[in-house]
Amino acid sequence: MARRVYIETFGCQMNAVDSARMLTLLGTADYRPAESLSDADLVLLNTCSIREKADQKIYSALGRLRRWKREREGRLVAVGGCLAQQEGTALRKRASHIDIVFGTHSIAFLPDLVRLAEGQGAPVSTDLTGDTSHWDVLPYLADGAVSAMVTIMQGCDNDCAYCIVPHVRGPEISRPSREILNEIRELAERGVREVVLLGQNVNSYGKKEGEIPFPELLRRISRIRNILRIRFITSNPRDLDRETIRLFSEIESLCPHVHLPIQAGSERVLSSMGRGYTREEYFGKVEDLRKARPGIAFSSDFIVGFPGETEADFQDTLSVMEEVRFDSSFSFRFSPRAGTRGAAMAETVSKEEASDRLTRLQTLQARHSRDRFAACVGKEVEVLVEGKSAKDPDRLCGRTPCYKTVNFSPVTEGQEAVRRVRIRSAGHHSLSGEEGGPRG
Ligand code: SF4
Repeated sequence: MARRVYIETFGCQMNAVDSARMLTLLGTADYRPAESLSDADLVLLNTCSIREKADQKIYSALGRLRRWKREREGRLVAVGGCLAQQEGTALRKRASHIDIVFGTHSIAFLPDLVRLAEGQGAPVSTDLTGDTSHWDVLPYLADGAVSAMVTIMQGCDNDCAYCIVPHVRGPEISRPSREILNEIRELAERGVREVVLLGQNVNSYGKKEGEIPFPELLRRISRIRNILRIRFITSNPRDLDRETIRLFSEIESLCPHVHLPIQAGSERVLSSMGRGYTREEYFGKVEDLRKARPGIAFSSDFIVGFPGETEADFQDTLSVMEEVRFDSSFSFRFSPRAGTRGAAMAETVSKEEASDRLTRLQTLQARHSRDRFAACVGKEVEVLVEGKSAKDPDRLCGRTPCYKTVNFSPVTEGQEAVRRVRIRSAGHHSLSGEEGGPRG
């Protein structure tokens, strides 16, 4: 009888697409998705270690699983992802009920690790081997999915002072473009109309493997039939080049939304972080993108309380936000990560001061987001329908090309993937409207 697996995913989209691959892989070991934790024989935590808080979340989840495991003979606990990569066997010292520990380069071995564990083994596999054979496995795709994430590379060769990624995902490895294009063609045949290209630094795609450069990859993807929308995440502003920027004026299916993490607004802090670009260079790229694609939207990442950050430095961060007006942003207090340069820096900003700065930043962002959403009222937008609205099953939900969520009342019964919607009102994080008529 098939056994059931329940995967809990922490952290970024890269982890989300890895979890979808793990689901497909475990299918080869006769595991099926479980509806709920109580229904499962195997629980897999796909972990993140980007901040201290992420670790704490995982250890409290592991605490809960100790009782879950005792409830039924033969249940297994597996831990994968970045924290497993970072901690390895040490994880077991804190949670002896863990059966399997596997790192970010060991995903392909998962079925064997599970079989070993079922056979009373207690496997651990965390070598940063560079093994990416799990990329050949098509991620599990829910029925009717119109959007899919596609990994194009893993790891990062940059060394930003606060960042654990190069230590847990390893150096940059780009996936062969042939494989990426084949996967996207297959996804298009299965009804996918939007692809989100994933990598920790997508603009460096192909640089080491003599592969085609990132702009050429985007061009080739734009020629695949039925792929109506292309997005990519994440870009390091330093590596975002002129040719990629120019493509926003050439390729209509390249969505007018860029996630461009700046992290801080002060030149001094940017240099101390080792980000590799200046505030002015960042503004220059934003300006070039706006010329290439008028109306393009931006989101970003911010860290407050980085060692040495003064109130004046923080004011520089707020002024960047006033200058660019991001649709949304992810923002966090600096969290020293073992093994990074930042961990060796003296912390000069108290937790209270950092929390106060975070609140001020998020308050400003909320105002900017509200304004950006309110500016859509009265406009007609194209929405890629993702399914029924969570708020009201009689309505549909989807996203605009600028990545804004829209809930709307459909008028046509048709199955068109993209609908034209007249926006009637705006909330903090979504828009509401009614269908204007099928796309031409
Ligand atoms: S570019 Fe991004 S992933 Fe790479 S080290 Fe910097 S923050 Fe981390």
